[in-house]
Amino acid sequence: MIKQHPSTDLLAEYAAGCLPWAHAICVTTHIHYCGRCREQVDQLNQLGADLMEASAGASSVDLPVDHGLLDRVLGAIDTPPASEPSPTVYHRPVTGARSRADLPPIVDRLISNQGVNWKRVSSGLKVARLQAGDDNHEVALHKICAGAKVAHHDHRATEVTVVLRGSFSDEDGVYAVGDFLLREPGEPHRPMAAQNQDCLCLSAQQAPIRLTGPWRWINPFLRIQPG
Ligand SMILES: [Zn+2]
Repeated sequence: MIKQHPSTDLLAEYAAGCLPWAHAICVTTHIHYCGRCREQVDQLNQLGADLMEASAGASSVDLPVDHGLLDRVLGAIDTPPASEPSPTVYHRPVTGARSRADLPPIVDRLISNQGVNWKRVSSGLKVARLQAGDDNHEVALHKICAGAKVAHHDHRATEVTVVLRGSFSDEDGVYAVGDFLLREPGEPHRPMAAQNQDCLCLSAQQAPIRLTGPWRWINPFLRIQPG
């Protein structure tokens, strides 16, 4: 069950097309799994269309102002959807021998376009950078081996993570497939994959992590590769 969702502010920026592309990829990935946020985005899109229509009408002809529109906007944002549609609604099966049928279409497309070039970071962590077309963020797959711990680290800028397979935990909780995490500077943690399965995550980083343990002398050498 998904416990971590993007904020309503983030979903509104997504619906309005204002998010950095790397973050939009992560939100698209999350709403592949999350019917609740998908429905909220649909509502926000509809409200945006209503607002555009109302504003266009008001500027062109002297129409009566729709005083109920703002109430409907605020009401729709505050009211959670009544039901959660099946997360398979947006699912597009992947044919062929590759075992990517469980991945969201946007992730599958990124992988299909360029393949996956895993690089070993430590004995328990591999990273594969994906070219996503965002000049300010690095988009990458992270694979944490079952039971392995990632080095304790903080963040120099916003980091978004969406779990694609397996699960991991840190000091604040346990995160499973579909969970959307947004970490800011000053939120250090030490992720650890569950014992029974490798954990695969999609991430978008605006800056390199900042190691806080004995390996912190490496920090000046850490880089990201946006694009
Ligand atoms: Zn959600």
